[in-house]
Amino acid sequence: MLSIRNLYKHFGNLIAVNNLSLTVDPGETVVIMGPSGCGKSTTIRTINRLIEPDSGSVIFDGVDITNLGEDELRSMRKRIGYVFQHFNLINRLSAVENIMLGLVMSGQSKEEAYDKAMAAMTKVGLEHLQDQKPGELSGGQQQRVGIARALAFEPELMLWDEPTASLDPMLVREVLVVMEELAKYRAATMVVVTHEIAFALHVADRIVLMEKGTIVESGIPNQVFVNPASHVGRQYKELIE
Ligand code: ATP
Ligand code: MG
Repeated sequence: MLSIRNLYKHFGNLIAVNNLSLTVDPGETVVIMGPSGCGKSTTIRTINRLIEPDSGSVIFDGVDITNLGEDELRSMRKRIGYVFQHFNLINRLSAVENIMLGLVMSGQSKEEAYDKAMAAMTKVGLEHLQDQKPGELSGGQQQRVGIARALAFEPELMLWDEPTASLDPMLVREVLVVMEELAKYRAATMVVVTHEIAFALHVADRIVLMEKGTIVESGIPNQVFVNPASHVGRQYKELIE
């Protein structure tokens, strides 16, 4: 489904992603963890080319995303949902309008966009709040609107970059619950960057640990957290104990 091969990205003298390769199977939930600055966001952002890699390939469903022209990239991105740490909702639009916007911009009729937006709002349990503006929603609810916005495109692949990191601790759970449901029903293949160890432990099919721009360990949660082979893995193990 997704195959990242020999990915490199540098910023000035700094190598942010250093020869990283990763394959993700259809329906799989892969959680990427590692210390701050190890290249997690850069890696996840090169998948849909929010960041252009220096070299390497990102093969999604048989197509190398790094070779696509603008138009092809735009249609490819409709198949890849992205949930940000900061929700990036538009304040003057209601929740449902925020979700409809991208659908309408991609050529769908307002009626069709509304139906899809409401279906997505229902999936995140917010259908009753469709007319609220972002400022009238809690952080957790805003992030669930952000998730619904991605879900409305029925993406085959969903990329998550610390989706709970901006949230009040009390609101983290409601977002993790939505993510867990999506993973459980294999609604999409998921690549998740998170520091939420309990989520990784219980929901990930596979955990990938990064350090200094590359993958140092990868395996099922019970292997990586219980019997780690890397320095980073041993640090996580200590946190759990
Ligand atoms: P965190 O857990 O703090 O989010 P991360 O693992 O996501 O960290 P990245 O954001 O991928 O780390 O950054 C990897 C390295 O690249 C860091 O050293 C960072 O300072 C650097 N970096 C990232 N983006 C840029 C940029 N646009 N310009 C210069 N350096 C950058
Ligand atoms: Mg990051």
